[in-house]
Amino acid sequence: MKKRPGLNTVCTHTGEVEDKRFGGAVSPLYMSTAYVFEDIDEKRYPRYFNTPNQQALCRKIAALEHAEDALIFGSGMAAISSALFAFLRKGDHVVFQNTLYGGTINLVREEFEKFGIEYSFTEGFAPEDFEREIRPETKVIYIETPSNPLLTITDIRAISAMAKKHNLVSMIDNTFASPVNQNPIDLGIDIVLHSATKYLGGHSDILAGAVASNSEYIDRIFQLAKNFGGSLSDYTVWLLERSIKTLGVRVKAQNKNAKKMAKFLAKHSDVEKVYYPGLKSHPDHELAKSQMRGFGGMLSFELKDGLDVSEFQKSLKLIKPVMSLAGVESTILSPTLTSHALLTPEEREKQGIKDGLIRFSLGIEDVKDLMEDIDQAIENVKSKVEVVS
Ligand SMILES: *Cc1c(COP(=O)(O)O)cnc(C)c1O
Repeated sequence: MKKRPGLNTVCTHTGEVEDKRFGGAVSPLYMSTAYVFEDIDEKRYPRYFNTPNQQALCRKIAALEHAEDALIFGSGMAAISSALFAFLRKGDHVVFQNTLYGGTINLVREEFEKFGIEYSFTEGFAPEDFEREIRPETKVIYIETPSNPLLTITDIRAISAMAKKHNLVSMIDNTFASPVNQNPIDLGIDIVLHSATKYLGGHSDILAGAVASNSEYIDRIFQLAKNFGGSLSDYTVWLLERSIKTLGVRVKAQNKNAKKMAKFLAKHSDVEKVYYPGLKSHPDHELAKSQMRGFGGMLSFELKDGLDVSEFQKSLKLIKPVMSLAGVESTILSPTLTSHALLTPEEREKQGIKDGLIRFSLGIEDVKDLMEDIDQAIENVKSKVEVVS
């Protein structure tokens, strides 16, 4: 096998549309939605995922995920729904990990019944929890690791092996790890999904999704996706290609910041608990080490009892309390108030999501400035508590 170029080389160069006319250093952008069809093998049309820029970006994402092929979509949910519906039909059953991105849970709960597709959510994250849910009708097994928001780790190798044993298609949402930290196809997973809105885009200004897999599965997803019509506009495709050039550099900086921040928060007298798979104290630390190259830029923490989360959020000066994640700027979010607001308090409790939990997406800023921001916000919350009491 030909040796694979290094990650940052793939990010910078793989795929590229060659500018044969002017010799420009970056891919030219082709915005055409109409292409000649005579004497041409490939009938190009953006909804068929085959414009020059779409194909270039697919090559780059496939290379990043060590996959044969890839498809780019208008959103992460378009990628996820297309992949699922390509492999599921009336009467089929799918096993989902119990903790998933909220939008994926909504897709399952609001749409699957209409199509007669059965599903189960596992009790826990252990391989036995998945195996217990498998039925004769099961076709797909679906995981997301590290999980949102508690960064629990699912054993990718064990789930892949189980899928093979039972003849199931295995899918993973690899958004949180990004291909910089985790390549599930190397661990036996069939289909890798991404919200490219997050790390692949990385600047909080692109909505996109991606699927990477073998050529046969990508073709199967394509056959459905061209009918569902979830393609991404070529302008955004071009921007995403540009963004991915710095993916390796960005995510490695975010990994570093997250690790330093996790250690800082773990020692902090006003912090109750920190969830970060890179900490030795994390229950899945060893498992994370066995399947991830870096531990990612996401962590969660709880303030000590009595410290008000909304007051804390309002007191931050540098870190932005916003929905979404994975931008070069640091952001935080309260799962109870946002991403997990649709769950009942009992469901949140069952997943271990306390109302005081804060999800933290580390950016690329100087980490000491972020630490200072946390400190001053906590001091501000404490001063208010004292005034009231
Ligand atoms: C954001 C996100 C999605 C959905 O992606 P969109 O681009 O918003 O459609 C799916 N999975 C995870 C883990 C996410 O964070």
